[in-house]
Amino acid sequence: MSDSLTNEEVSRYGRQMIVQGLSTNNPIDQQLLLKNSKIVLIGAGGLSSPCLAYLAGAGVGTIGIIDDDVVENSNLHRQIIHSTSKRGMLKCESAKKFINDLNPNVIVKTFPVRLNNENAFDILDQFDVILDCTDTPITRYLSSDVAVVLGKTLISASGVNTEGQLTVLNFENVGPCYRCFHPKPPPPHAVSSCSANGVIGACIGLVGVMQAVETLKVLQKIYTKENFEPFMLQYNGFMDQSLRRFKMRGRREDCISCGSKAENKITREMIENSEINYFEFCGSRDYNVLADDERITVQEFEDKYWKDKKPKEDTVYLDVRPAHHYSISNFNNEKFHNIPLAELKSFKNDWTKLKSKMPELEPTSEVVVFCRHGNESRLATRVLKDDFGIKNTKDVIGGFFKYIDDVDPSLPKY
Ligand code: ZN
Repeated sequence: MSDSLTNEEVSRYGRQMIVQGLSTNNPIDQQLLLKNSKIVLIGAGGLSSPCLAYLAGAGVGTIGIIDDDVVENSNLHRQIIHSTSKRGMLKCESAKKFINDLNPNVIVKTFPVRLNNENAFDILDQFDVILDCTDTPITRYLSSDVAVVLGKTLISASGVNTEGQLTVLNFENVGPCYRCFHPKPPPPHAVSSCSANGVIGACIGLVGVMQAVETLKVLQKIYTKENFEPFMLQYNGFMDQSLRRFKMRGRREDCISCGSKAENKITREMIENSEINYFEFCGSRDYNVLADDERITVQEFEDKYWKDKKPKEDTVYLDVRPAHHYSISNFNNEKFHNIPLAELKSFKNDWTKLKSKMPELEPTSEVVVFCRHGNESRLATRVLKDDFGIKNTKDVIGGFFKYIDDVDPSLPKY
Protein backbone atom coordinates (compact mmCIF):
# COMPACT_ATOMS: atom_id res chain seq x y z
CA MET A 1 0.00 0.00 0.00
CA SER A 2 1.31 3.37 -0.99
CA ASP A 3 0.21 6.49 0.87
CA SER A 4 1.87 9.14 -1.26
CA LEU A 5 2.50 10.19 -4.84
CA THR A 6 5.86 11.14 -6.32
CA ASN A 7 6.26 14.48 -8.10
CA GLU A 8 6.45 12.57 -11.37
CA GLU A 9 3.11 10.95 -10.61
CA VAL A 10 1.48 14.24 -9.69
CA SER A 11 2.60 15.78 -12.98
CA ARG A 12 1.61 12.66 -14.96
CA TYR A 13 -1.89 12.39 -13.48
CA GLY A 14 -2.50 16.08 -12.74
CA ARG A 15 -5.07 16.62 -15.49
CA GLN A 16 -7.33 13.87 -14.19
CA MET A 17 -6.72 14.77 -10.54
CA ILE A 18 -8.09 18.29 -11.03
CA VAL A 19 -11.42 17.10 -12.44
CA GLN A 20 -13.84 18.28 -9.80
CA GLY A 21 -16.95 16.84 -8.29
CA LEU A 22 -16.15 13.16 -8.69
CA SER A 23 -15.84 12.36 -5.04
CA THR A 24 -15.56 13.87 -1.61
CA ASN A 25 -12.02 12.54 -1.36
CA ASN A 26 -9.12 14.88 -1.88
CA PRO A 27 -7.43 14.47 -5.30
CA ILE A 28 -4.38 12.69 -3.90
CA ASP A 29 -6.48 10.07 -2.09
CA GLN A 30 -8.53 9.66 -5.25
CA GLN A 31 -5.38 8.96 -7.28
CA LEU A 32 -4.02 6.64 -4.57
CA LEU A 33 -7.13 4.49 -5.01
CA LEU A 34 -5.87 3.78 -8.53
CA LYS A 35 -2.23 3.40 -7.51
CA ASN A 36 -3.11 0.82 -4.88
CA SER A 37 -5.53 -1.18 -7.01
CA LYS A 38 -4.90 -4.46 -8.76
CA ILE A 39 -6.94 -5.39 -11.79
CA VAL A 40 -6.78 -8.31 -14.20
CA LEU A 41 -7.90 -8.44 -17.81
CA ILE A 42 -8.96 -11.72 -19.38
CA GLY A 43 -7.86 -11.36 -22.98
CA ALA A 44 -5.46 -8.90 -24.63
CA GLY A 45 -7.36 -8.27 -27.85
CA GLY A 46 -9.74 -5.72 -29.35
CA LEU A 47 -11.54 -4.73 -26.15
CA SER A 48 -8.45 -4.87 -23.97
CA SER A 49 -6.28 -2.78 -26.24
CA PRO A 50 -7.86 0.60 -25.62
CA CYS A 51 -9.05 -0.44 -22.15
CA LEU A 52 -5.52 -1.33 -21.02
CA ALA A 53 -4.05 1.76 -22.57
CA TYR A 54 -6.35 4.15 -20.69
CA LEU A 55 -6.16 2.27 -17.39
CA ALA A 56 -2.37 2.09 -17.54
CA GLY A 57 -2.26 5.75 -18.52
CA ALA A 58 -4.55 6.64 -15.61
CA GLY A 59 -2.16 5.02 -13.14
CA VAL A 60 -3.75 1.74 -12.06
CA GLY A 61 -0.99 0.25 -9.90
CA THR A 62 -1.01 -3.42 -10.88
CA ILE A 63 -2.42 -4.91 -14.07
CA GLY A 64 -2.62 -8.63 -14.81
CA ILE A 65 -3.09 -9.89 -18.37
CA ILE A 66 -4.30 -13.40 -19.20
CA ASP A 67 -3.87 -14.45 -22.83
CA ASP A 68 -2.18 -17.43 -24.46
CA ASP A 69 -2.46 -16.22 -28.07
CA VAL A 70 0.28 -14.69 -30.15
CA VAL A 71 -0.06 -11.49 -32.16
CA GLU A 72 -1.25 -12.21 -35.71
CA ASN A 73 -1.54 -10.01 -38.74
CA SER A 74 -5.34 -10.30 -38.68
CA ASN A 75 -5.44 -8.84 -35.13
CA LEU A 76 -3.75 -5.56 -35.90
CA HIS A 77 -6.69 -3.65 -37.40
CA ARG A 78 -8.31 -3.54 -33.96
CA GLN A 79 -5.81 -4.71 -31.34
CA ILE A 80 -3.96 -1.45 -31.46
CA ILE A 81 -1.59 -1.92 -28.53
CA HIS A 82 0.17 -4.61 -30.57
CA SER A 83 2.11 -3.73 -33.68
CA THR A 84 3.39 -5.19 -36.91
CA SER A 85 6.83 -5.77 -35.43
CA LYS A 86 5.29 -7.83 -32.60
CA ARG A 87 3.68 -10.47 -34.82
CA GLY A 88 4.43 -13.89 -33.37
CA MET A 89 4.98 -12.50 -29.85
CA LEU A 90 2.70 -13.57 -26.98
CA LYS A 91 -0.06 -10.98 -26.70
CA CYS A 92 0.35 -10.70 -22.93
CA GLU A 93 4.05 -9.90 -23.36
CA SER A 94 3.37 -7.46 -26.19
CA ALA A 95 0.75 -5.76 -23.98
CA LYS A 96 3.21 -5.57 -21.09
CA LYS A 97 5.75 -3.84 -23.28
CA PHE A 98 3.13 -1.36 -24.49
CA ILE A 99 2.02 -0.57 -20.95
CA ASN A 100 5.50 -0.05 -19.60
CA ASP A 101 6.46 2.17 -22.55
CA LEU A 102 3.39 4.26 -21.75
CA ASN A 103 3.68 4.21 -17.98
CA PRO A 104 6.63 2.53 -16.24
CA ASN A 105 4.92 3.00 -12.86
CA VAL A 106 2.50 0.15 -13.60
CA ILE A 107 3.38 -3.33 -12.34
CA VAL A 108 2.34 -5.80 -15.04
CA LYS A 109 1.82 -9.51 -14.42
CA THR A 110 1.43 -11.77 -17.44
CA PHE A 111 -0.32 -15.13 -17.61
CA PRO A 112 0.23 -16.85 -20.97
CA VAL A 113 -2.58 -19.34 -20.36
CA ARG A 114 -6.23 -19.78 -21.23
CA LEU A 115 -8.46 -19.23 -18.21
CA ASN A 116 -10.01 -22.55 -17.17
CA ASN A 117 -11.62 -24.35 -14.24
CA GLU A 118 -8.25 -25.33 -12.76
CA ASN A 119 -6.35 -22.03 -12.93
CA ALA A 120 -9.13 -19.42 -12.59
CA PHE A 121 -9.15 -19.13 -8.79
CA ASP A 122 -5.38 -18.97 -8.36
CA ILE A 123 -4.99 -16.25 -10.97
CA LEU A 124 -8.07 -14.11 -10.35
CA ASP A 125 -7.66 -14.13 -6.56
CA GLN A 126 -4.43 -12.12 -6.93
CA PHE A 127 -6.46 -9.07 -8.06
CA ASP A 128 -9.22 -6.81 -6.71
CA VAL A 129 -11.29 -6.28 -9.84
CA ILE A 130 -11.71 -8.56 -12.86
CA LEU A 131 -12.31 -7.45 -16.45
CA ASP A 132 -13.66 -9.97 -18.94
CA CYS A 133 -12.52 -8.80 -22.36
CA THR A 134 -13.14 -12.02 -24.26
CA ASP A 135 -16.10 -12.80 -26.44
CA THR A 136 -16.83 -16.37 -25.45
CA PRO A 137 -19.83 -17.49 -23.36
CA ILE A 138 -17.62 -20.07 -21.63
CA THR A 139 -15.32 -17.38 -20.21
CA ARG A 140 -18.28 -15.15 -19.35
CA TYR A 141 -19.87 -17.84 -17.15
CA LEU A 142 -16.57 -19.03 -15.69
CA SER A 143 -15.33 -15.55 -14.79
CA SER A 144 -18.72 -14.62 -13.33
CA ASP A 145 -18.96 -17.75 -11.18
CA VAL A 146 -15.40 -17.33 -9.91
CA ALA A 147 -15.93 -13.61 -9.24
CA VAL A 148 -18.98 -14.44 -7.10
CA VAL A 149 -17.15 -17.10 -5.08
CA LEU A 150 -14.17 -14.76 -4.57
CA GLY A 151 -16.44 -11.78 -3.83
CA LYS A 152 -14.94 -9.58 -6.54
CA THR A 153 -16.50 -7.10 -8.96
CA LEU A 154 -16.43 -8.16 -12.62
CA ILE A 155 -16.62 -5.70 -15.50
CA SER A 156 -17.74 -7.69 -18.50
CA ALA A 157 -17.73 -6.51 -22.11
CA SER A 158 -18.18 -8.09 -25.49
CA GLY A 159 -18.26 -6.94 -29.05
CA VAL A 160 -18.60 -8.33 -32.54
CA ASN A 161 -19.39 -6.89 -35.94
CA THR A 162 -20.41 -3.26 -35.30
CA GLU A 163 -21.96 -3.81 -31.87
CA GLY A 164 -21.00 -4.29 -28.27
CA GLN A 165 -22.29 -4.77 -24.72
CA LEU A 166 -21.01 -3.79 -21.34
CA THR A 167 -22.07 -4.44 -17.76
CA VAL A 168 -20.75 -4.45 -14.20
CA LEU A 169 -21.39 -7.76 -12.42
CA ASN A 170 -21.33 -8.89 -8.80
CA PHE A 171 -20.65 -5.27 -7.81
CA GLU A 172 -19.14 -5.25 -4.31
CA ASN A 173 -20.52 -8.77 -3.96
CA VAL A 174 -24.12 -7.51 -3.84
CA GLY A 175 -24.91 -6.80 -7.51
CA PRO A 176 -26.31 -9.43 -9.89
CA CYS A 177 -24.03 -11.86 -11.70
CA TYR A 178 -23.98 -13.05 -15.30
CA ARG A 179 -26.21 -16.00 -14.48
CA CYS A 180 -28.83 -13.65 -13.01
CA PHE A 181 -29.13 -12.07 -16.47
CA HIS A 182 -28.63 -15.28 -18.45
CA PRO A 183 -29.51 -18.41 -16.44
CA LYS A 184 -29.23 -20.38 -19.69
CA PRO A 185 -26.55 -19.86 -22.35
CA PRO A 186 -27.53 -18.89 -25.89
CA PRO A 187 -27.65 -21.79 -28.37
CA PRO A 188 -24.19 -22.34 -29.91
CA HIS A 189 -25.30 -21.34 -33.42
CA ALA A 190 -26.45 -17.96 -32.04
CA VAL A 191 -23.00 -17.17 -30.68
CA SER A 192 -20.85 -15.15 -33.01
CA SER A 193 -17.16 -14.44 -32.79
CA CYS A 194 -14.86 -11.83 -34.29
CA SER A 195 -13.04 -14.57 -36.15
CA ALA A 196 -16.15 -15.95 -37.82
CA ASN A 197 -18.35 -12.87 -38.14
CA GLY A 198 -15.88 -10.07 -38.42
CA VAL A 199 -15.53 -6.92 -36.37
CA ILE A 200 -15.03 -3.22 -37.01
CA GLY A 201 -12.01 -2.21 -34.92
CA ALA A 202 -13.30 1.23 -33.99
CA CYS A 203 -16.62 -0.21 -32.75
CA ILE A 204 -15.12 -2.80 -30.42
CA GLY A 205 -12.51 -0.23 -29.43
CA LEU A 206 -15.20 2.16 -28.27
CA VAL A 207 -16.70 -0.54 -26.04
CA GLY A 208 -13.21 -1.16 -24.63
CA VAL A 209 -12.88 2.54 -23.81
CA MET A 210 -16.24 2.48 -22.03
CA GLN A 211 -15.05 -0.58 -20.12
CA ALA A 212 -12.08 1.47 -18.93
CA VAL A 213 -14.45 4.24 -17.78
CA GLU A 214 -16.58 1.77 -15.79
CA THR A 215 -13.41 0.32 -14.25
CA LEU A 216 -12.28 3.77 -13.10
CA LYS A 217 -15.70 4.34 -11.52
CA VAL A 218 -15.43 1.05 -9.62
CA LEU A 219 -11.82 1.59 -8.53
CA GLN A 220 -12.30 5.22 -7.52
CA LYS A 221 -15.49 4.39 -5.63
CA ILE A 222 -17.67 6.64 -7.78
CA TYR A 223 -20.04 3.70 -7.63
CA THR A 224 -21.05 2.80 -4.11
CA LYS A 225 -23.28 0.09 -2.70
CA GLU A 226 -25.86 2.84 -2.16
CA ASN A 227 -25.87 4.40 -5.63
CA PHE A 228 -25.05 1.45 -7.90
CA GLU A 229 -27.90 0.27 -10.10
CA PRO A 230 -27.45 -2.82 -12.27
CA PHE A 231 -27.38 -1.95 -15.99
CA MET A 232 -26.53 -3.21 -19.43
CA LEU A 233 -25.08 -0.85 -22.02
CA GLN A 234 -25.65 -1.67 -25.66
CA TYR A 235 -23.65 0.05 -28.34
CA ASN A 236 -24.61 -0.02 -31.99
CA GLY A 237 -21.95 1.49 -34.18
CA PHE A 238 -23.03 1.62 -37.78
CA MET A 239 -26.78 1.91 -38.08
CA ASP A 240 -27.48 4.88 -35.87
CA GLN A 241 -24.34 5.05 -33.66
CA SER A 242 -26.43 4.69 -30.54
CA LEU A 243 -25.78 3.80 -26.95
CA ARG A 244 -28.67 2.44 -24.92
CA ARG A 245 -28.60 1.84 -21.22
CA PHE A 246 -30.96 -0.82 -19.91
CA LYS A 247 -31.77 -0.92 -16.24
CA MET A 248 -31.41 -4.50 -15.02
CA ARG A 249 -32.92 -6.29 -12.05
CA GLY A 250 -30.84 -7.08 -9.00
CA ARG A 251 -29.78 -10.54 -7.92
CA ARG A 252 -32.17 -13.39 -8.54
CA GLU A 253 -32.88 -15.21 -5.32
CA ASP A 254 -32.78 -18.53 -7.14
CA CYS A 255 -29.53 -17.82 -9.03
CA ILE A 256 -27.31 -20.89 -8.63
CA SER A 257 -24.24 -18.69 -8.46
CA CYS A 258 -25.19 -15.70 -6.27
CA GLY A 259 -28.80 -16.31 -5.16
CA SER A 260 -29.62 -16.19 -1.46
CA LYS A 261 -32.25 -18.91 -1.71
CA ALA A 262 -30.69 -21.22 -4.29
CA GLU A 263 -30.08 -24.83 -3.44
CA ASN A 264 -26.85 -26.48 -4.53
CA LYS A 265 -25.05 -23.23 -5.10
CA ILE A 266 -21.88 -23.30 -7.17
CA THR A 267 -18.77 -23.64 -5.02
CA ARG A 268 -15.04 -23.39 -5.66
CA GLU A 269 -14.77 -27.16 -5.33
CA MET A 270 -17.49 -27.73 -7.92
CA ILE A 271 -15.66 -25.51 -10.39
CA GLU A 272 -12.17 -26.82 -9.66
CA ASN A 273 -13.12 -30.47 -9.93
CA SER A 274 -14.99 -29.67 -13.17
CA GLU A 275 -18.36 -30.66 -11.78
CA ILE A 276 -19.38 -27.43 -13.51
CA ASN A 277 -18.50 -28.15 -17.13
CA TYR A 278 -18.65 -24.89 -19.04
CA PHE A 279 -18.07 -26.51 -22.43
CA GLU A 280 -20.98 -28.84 -21.93
CA PHE A 281 -23.15 -26.09 -20.45
CA CYS A 282 -22.50 -23.74 -23.35
CA GLY A 283 -23.02 -26.61 -25.78
CA SER A 284 -19.96 -26.31 -28.01
CA ARG A 285 -20.95 -27.61 -31.39
CA ASP A 286 -19.81 -31.16 -32.15
CA TYR A 287 -18.03 -31.37 -35.47
CA ASN A 288 -16.92 -34.98 -35.03
CA VAL A 289 -19.36 -36.34 -37.53
CA LEU A 290 -17.02 -38.03 -40.00
CA ALA A 291 -14.86 -41.16 -40.05
CA ASP A 292 -11.19 -40.86 -41.01
CA ASP A 293 -11.73 -42.33 -44.47
CA GLU A 294 -14.29 -39.62 -45.24
CA ARG A 295 -11.58 -36.97 -45.07
CA ILE A 296 -8.45 -36.03 -46.98
CA THR A 297 -5.50 -33.83 -46.07
CA VAL A 298 -4.67 -30.63 -47.92
CA GLN A 299 -1.63 -32.38 -49.39
CA GLU A 300 -3.80 -35.23 -50.69
CA PHE A 301 -6.10 -32.61 -52.18
CA GLU A 302 -3.17 -30.93 -53.89
CA ASP A 303 -1.73 -34.19 -55.24
CA LYS A 304 -4.93 -35.83 -56.34
CA TYR A 305 -7.52 -33.13 -57.03
CA TRP A 306 -5.56 -29.98 -57.80
CA LYS A 307 -2.44 -31.21 -59.53
CA ASP A 308 -0.58 -28.38 -61.23
CA LYS A 309 -3.38 -26.07 -60.11
CA LYS A 310 -5.83 -27.81 -62.41
CA PRO A 311 -9.14 -29.38 -61.32
CA LYS A 312 -9.88 -33.02 -62.03
CA GLU A 313 -12.27 -33.61 -64.89
CA ASP A 314 -14.92 -35.68 -63.09
CA THR A 315 -14.73 -34.10 -59.62
CA VAL A 316 -17.13 -31.53 -58.20
CA TYR A 317 -15.56 -28.85 -55.98
CA LEU A 318 -17.61 -27.22 -53.24
CA ASP A 319 -16.71 -24.42 -50.82
CA VAL A 320 -19.30 -23.85 -48.07
CA ARG A 321 -17.97 -20.58 -46.64
CA PRO A 322 -20.31 -17.55 -46.52
CA ALA A 323 -20.37 -15.78 -49.89
CA HIS A 324 -18.65 -12.63 -48.64
CA HIS A 325 -15.81 -14.73 -47.22
CA TYR A 326 -15.51 -16.60 -50.51
CA SER A 327 -15.29 -13.36 -52.46
CA ILE A 328 -12.20 -12.27 -50.51
CA SER A 329 -10.12 -15.31 -51.35
CA ASN A 330 -10.67 -18.56 -53.26
CA PHE A 331 -9.09 -20.96 -55.77
CA ASN A 332 -10.19 -18.70 -58.60
CA ASN A 333 -11.41 -21.54 -60.78
CA GLU A 334 -14.88 -21.87 -62.25
CA LYS A 335 -15.13 -25.53 -61.31
CA PHE A 336 -15.41 -24.46 -57.68
CA HIS A 337 -18.92 -23.79 -56.43
CA ASN A 338 -19.73 -21.67 -53.41
CA ILE A 339 -22.82 -22.76 -51.48
CA PRO A 340 -22.78 -21.54 -47.86
CA LEU A 341 -23.52 -24.29 -45.34
CA ALA A 342 -26.80 -22.73 -44.18
CA GLU A 343 -28.07 -22.62 -47.76
CA LEU A 344 -26.97 -26.20 -48.41
CA LYS A 345 -28.82 -27.35 -45.31
CA SER A 346 -31.94 -25.46 -46.41
CA PHE A 347 -32.12 -27.62 -49.57
CA LYS A 348 -33.14 -30.60 -47.41
CA ASN A 349 -33.06 -33.40 -49.97
CA ASP A 350 -34.27 -31.38 -52.94
CA TRP A 351 -32.03 -32.36 -55.86
CA THR A 352 -33.51 -29.64 -58.10
CA LYS A 353 -32.25 -26.95 -55.77
CA LEU A 354 -28.86 -28.59 -55.43
CA LYS A 355 -28.48 -29.08 -59.19
CA SER A 356 -29.40 -25.45 -59.81
CA LYS A 357 -26.16 -24.59 -58.02
CA MET A 358 -24.03 -27.50 -59.22
CA PRO A 359 -25.44 -28.62 -62.60
CA GLU A 360 -22.81 -31.30 -63.22
CA LEU A 361 -23.49 -33.04 -59.90
CA GLU A 362 -24.77 -36.64 -59.93
CA PRO A 363 -25.33 -39.09 -57.06
CA THR A 364 -22.22 -40.95 -58.25
CA SER A 365 -20.04 -37.82 -58.42
CA GLU A 366 -16.86 -37.44 -56.48
CA VAL A 367 -17.12 -34.26 -54.37
CA VAL A 368 -14.45 -32.45 -52.33
CA VAL A 369 -15.66 -29.96 -49.72
CA PHE A 370 -13.84 -26.95 -48.32
CA CYS A 371 -14.65 -24.35 -45.72
CA ARG A 372 -12.46 -21.90 -43.84
CA HIS A 373 -11.04 -24.08 -41.04
CA GLY A 374 -12.47 -27.50 -41.85
CA ASN A 375 -15.38 -27.55 -39.39
CA GLU A 376 -18.40 -26.52 -41.44
CA SER A 377 -17.14 -28.62 -44.36
CA ARG A 378 -17.53 -31.68 -42.13
CA LEU A 379 -21.17 -30.84 -41.52
CA ALA A 380 -21.63 -30.16 -45.25
CA THR A 381 -20.06 -33.53 -46.12
CA ARG A 382 -22.58 -35.15 -43.82
CA VAL A 383 -25.43 -33.30 -45.57
CA LEU A 384 -24.29 -34.41 -49.05
CA LYS A 385 -23.90 -38.00 -47.90
CA ASP A 386 -27.01 -38.31 -45.74
CA ASP A 387 -29.54 -35.99 -47.42
CA PHE A 388 -28.47 -36.58 -51.03
CA GLY A 389 -26.75 -39.97 -50.90
CA ILE A 390 -23.56 -38.73 -52.57
CA LYS A 391 -21.33 -41.39 -51.07
CA ASN A 392 -18.09 -40.25 -52.65
CA THR A 393 -17.87 -36.95 -50.79
CA LYS A 394 -14.61 -35.99 -49.11
CA ASP A 395 -13.98 -33.31 -46.50
CA VAL A 396 -10.67 -31.44 -46.68
CA ILE A 397 -9.10 -31.47 -43.21
CA GLY A 398 -8.31 -27.99 -41.87
CA GLY A 399 -10.03 -26.29 -44.80
CA PHE A 400 -8.93 -23.50 -47.09
CA PHE A 401 -6.73 -21.83 -44.48
CA LYS A 402 -4.83 -25.05 -43.82
CA TYR A 403 -4.28 -25.33 -47.57
CA ILE A 404 -2.88 -21.79 -47.60
CA ASP A 405 -0.65 -22.51 -44.59
CA ASP A 406 0.73 -25.83 -45.78
CA VAL A 407 0.57 -25.73 -49.55
CA ASP A 408 0.08 -22.32 -51.15
CA PRO A 409 0.87 -19.26 -48.99
CA SER A 410 0.50 -17.03 -52.04
CA LEU A 411 -3.29 -17.05 -51.59
CA PRO A 412 -4.72 -14.24 -49.41
CA LYS A 413 -5.69 -15.28 -45.89
CA TYR A 414 -8.13 -12.97 -44.15
ZN1 ZN B 1 -26.49 -14.48 -9.97
